[in-house]
Amino acid sequence: TTFQDLGLSPKVLSAVTDAGYSTPTPIQAGAIPHALKHRDILGIAQTGTGKTASFVLPMLTLLEKGRARARMPRTLILEPTRELAAQVAENFEKYGKNHKLNVALLIGGVSFDDQNRKLERGADVLIATPGRLLDHCERGKLLMTGVDILVIDEADRMLDMGFIPDIERIVKMIPFTRQTLFFSATMPPEIQKLADAFLQNPERIEV
Ligand code: AMP
Repeated sequence: TTFQDLGLSPKVLSAVTDAGYSTPTPIQAGAIPHALKHRDILGIAQTGTGKTASFVLPMLTLLEKGRARARMPRTLILEPTRELAAQVAENFEKYGKNHKLNVALLIGGVSFDDQNRKLERGADVLIATPGRLLDHCERGKLLMTGVDILVIDEADRMLDMGFIPDIERIVKMIPFTRQTLFFSATMPPEIQKLADAFLQNPERIEV
């Protein structure tokens, strides 16, 4: 398989070429074609497998249609830590350099004012840790009703960190018509239960 076979847009393919990648990794080859067809994904993959690009690249392609509205992010990526959230934001910068997208990063330890300004402009991509996202929702500055792609990354780490109740609260605010991409390095029973609750007829890719 080559990147050209996966169905990605020309803008995305050009950024991938500039990044120096020649061949998709197994999680990328497995997930990207299904994600582009709006399918739910259950990806069982560790960090280092190219997992981030497996959701960032199809999201960039799908985001080329439509535009964001104030306080209504179009997509949401949940990460367990600030560091991981920041890394995903960097991936959107790198692969999205040919796109004009507003990427908002909502993590603790950063001022609410700067984050609010980004949300006010309309976020195409919102990358957040669960606690800070709920803080913004409670302040009434953020509506989850426009999210049509939800990514839950590192689900098993979310479990270890006690974030599952927060995740359940957040997912309840997002319309059921969304597309959900769910990633975990391991699949203990609690995570399988969560995947069963959040995903509809997912394509399962294990690497
Ligand atoms: P990740 O698993 O998302 O943390 O990615 C691990 C590393 O692999 C990152 O440094 C990426 O830049 C790199 N990477 C992702 N996809 C590819 C690819 N198809 N070919 C070569 N390197 C890649």
